[in-house]
Amino acid sequence: MTGLTNLLDLDPAQLVAYCGELGEKPFRAKQLQRWIHQFGASDFNAMSDLAKSLREKLATRAHVEAPQIISDHTSTDGTRKWLLDVGQGNAVETVFIPEEQRGTLCISTQAGCAVNCRFCSTGKQGFSRNLTVAEIVGQLWMAEFELRRSKGIEPGPRGERQITNVVMMGMGEPLLNYEPTVTALRMMLDDNAYGLSRRRVTLSTSGVVPMIDKLSQDCAVALAVSLHASNDALRDDLVPLNRKYPLRELMAACRRYLDFAPRDFVTFEYCMLDGVNDSDAHARELVALVQGREPVPCKFNLIPFNPFPESGLIRSENARIKSFAKVLSNAGIVTTIRKTRGEDIDAACGQLAGEVQDRTRVQERMQKMATYQKKFGPNFGRIVEIAS
Ligand code: SAH
Ligand code: SF4
Repeated sequence: MTGLTNLLDLDPAQLVAYCGELGEKPFRAKQLQRWIHQFGASDFNAMSDLAKSLREKLATRAHVEAPQIISDHTSTDGTRKWLLDVGQGNAVETVFIPEEQRGTLCISTQAGCAVNCRFCSTGKQGFSRNLTVAEIVGQLWMAEFELRRSKGIEPGPRGERQITNVVMMGMGEPLLNYEPTVTALRMMLDDNAYGLSRRRVTLSTSGVVPMIDKLSQDCAVALAVSLHASNDALRDDLVPLNRKYPLRELMAACRRYLDFAPRDFVTFEYCMLDGVNDSDAHARELVALVQGREPVPCKFNLIPFNPFPESGLIRSENARIKSFAKVLSNAGIVTTIRKTRGEDIDAACGQLAGEVQDRTRVQERMQKMATYQKKFGPNFGRIVEIAS
């Protein structure tokens, strides 16, 4: 299919320009967008309100193609994970997390990641390449219409959305793949495409300071920052990017972002690592960091570490996580403990390694979980409380 333009690569303005090149009026771009993003159509012949001549032109020059699905698993808790082929032996993962009031899709922005955080299996596999716009937005396109097909829901513009929220928390550092990420974000927000509100789209970053500022100007969606440490020495070790953009600069960037953000707080993600970053003293240091002379309005999301063999790290015990949460919430900081979802299919945070031998890994993982549960009790991996 080389030489064809993938229409999933074009944002609304680019699609208008593309239609212009074909001698078509701008409203045709809107129609096309609706067919693609609201009806999940990829066959131009099915786009019945487009003139036959345009459909024929498109058929010879364009296509609508998301990454191919390698595997598709649904967890016992309803979490669904797709492994997607992005060529040259690379695969990325997309995870759907259904909840009562919403359906969240966690999407990837890179194959692998160069940041190499100590606790992240994506980081451990190194960086392969940036995803294209079509590969990023294609994850939403594929997932929305696969979910509808599974439920027998007809495609259409309103009221039938399966995916109500998007989080860029899959594989990769979105702010190190900036332009394609922002173009994909714009398509998610566009009324003729997905029409998601900026509050329902969250970008998670390990802290690429200049790009946080740029995002505030280009497409200020909700911001999550992977903090994981309460001081620079610890963060230098856990998130190597901290050596380039230390905490003071990161906190200042968060404050600046809030002037443009759709929410009035930043979410700090904090992965709970036994004996590394999880003491009450660390929690108090965090309180001082975000409530000090230059406070950052924020919420904390504590993520129970999802272990993988090469990390040499262990998840904090539940009681420790609760005690840590209490220090933060006693200081008036809204703190939640993330539910661990989809572990039986390796879809939990930091387990997204894009390995093609998925099945083997699931079995390994199940055995590992059984060992951990023997050691830490049956509730290991089933943290469901929300601390307030
Ligand atoms: N690169 C971005 C987005 C992807 S990572 C970032 O770092 O923010 C998404 C989240 O999963 C981050 O908060 C990350 O720190 C967390 N994470 C990574 N590995 C994890 C693991 N093994 N257990 C729990 N959370 C993990
Ligand atoms: Fe990359 Fe995020 Fe993993 Fe760090 S946590 S290695 S930034 S994907």
